[in-house]
Parts: sequence; C-alpha cells; structure tokens
Amino acid sequence: MELYSGPINKLIEELAGLPGIGEKSAGRLAFHLINMPRPKVERLANTILEAKDKVCYCKQCYTLTDKELCPVCSNEKRDRSTIMVVENSRDLAAYEKTGKYQGVYHVLHGAISPMLGVGPQDIKLKELISRLEDDLVKEVIIATNSSLEGETTAMYISKLIKPTGVKVTRIASGVPVGGDLECIDEVTLLRALEGRTEL
Ligand code: ZN
Repeated sequence: MELYSGPINKLIEELAGLPGIGEKSAGRLAFHLINMPRPKVERLANTILEAKDKVCYCKQCYTLTDKELCPVCSNEKRDRSTIMVVENSRDLAAYEKTGKYQGVYHVLHGAISPMLGVGPQDIKLKELISRLEDDLVKEVIIATNSSLEGETTAMYISKLIKPTGVKVTRIASGVPVGGDLECIDEVTLLRALEGRTEL
C-alpha cells in the first residue's frame, strides 16, 4: 500500500536523490514544500531553473560562473604565473574567502578515484595541461583534499607536469585527512598554503 499519493511520493523520491538528504529529511522537505504558499514554491522552482540555465564553466579556470570569465580570471591584478588546482568551486571559494591568495585557480570538478571509476579523463585535467603551454605559468599549487582520492590526484598531476619544468607544490598536510577544504577555517587554509612543499 502506498502511504502517500503519487505526486508526493515522487517529490520525496526526487528530494531523497539529492546529496546529504535521507528518506526522512526528504519526507519533511516534501511536506514543507506542499504547505508553502504557491508564489513561494514558484520562486524556488524558478530560482533552481535560472541557476541551472545561467551557470556555466569559466573559459579559463572552469569554475562555475555566469559570465565567460569568472571574477578571478577577469581580474587583471591576479598573478597568472601561479595556478592553484582545487577539486571544486566550493574549495575555490574557501581560498578566496581568505583574501590572501593572489594567483589564479584551476577547478578539476572531481578527483581521480579508481574505486568509483573516476579516471583522469573524467576531470578537467587536460584543460589544466593546456593552460601550461602558456610560458607565463611558473608554479602549480595542488590543493586537492587530503583524502585518498585527493592524494592520488595530486600524485598524478605532479607526474604529468614535472617534465614540463613548471614547479609543482602541494599544500601542507595541516589539513585533516579526509577533510573537505570548504569546512576548514581560514587560518588553517593559509597555513597549509604557506607551508606548501615542492613535489
Ligand atoms: Zn575563471
């Protein structure tokens, strides 16, 4: 026997498919949404669609943006000789929040994970390598997470870049193992950046 009517079940199912939302939370959210006034629901639905339609990859660093170039890449004051490689746009935001990093970024959109079947071709890696053809680049700072996937990715990138003669560094491992960069406070992030070592 179905506990709720079809549309409610469908809504719960869709919500439960989102990361971090279990069956229970999905149920709570579904009933909350249904009890909301229609204009509010419309605004939420439209906001989701608008974000989906307008957001694209920055042509240079591949972070999510709504312009051809993101605010960092379009800022002429940023130091283009240093590229910090991060796993996702949230990690970029975490470093940006410190306000201390002057270089530019490269967003991989994932990390290599043989267990999950994510290979080098599934992340924005060849896009990073093609950026290095520009003689301007002097250093690549690998700031992937200190999880197994993050470390695997860091090793892979360093092996790939070393032959080109560009300096490759890795942020210090003051960052807790398995810790998402975005959850770490600014002081720890800066310490990790300053304590980076050459690979
Ligand atoms: Zn950019």
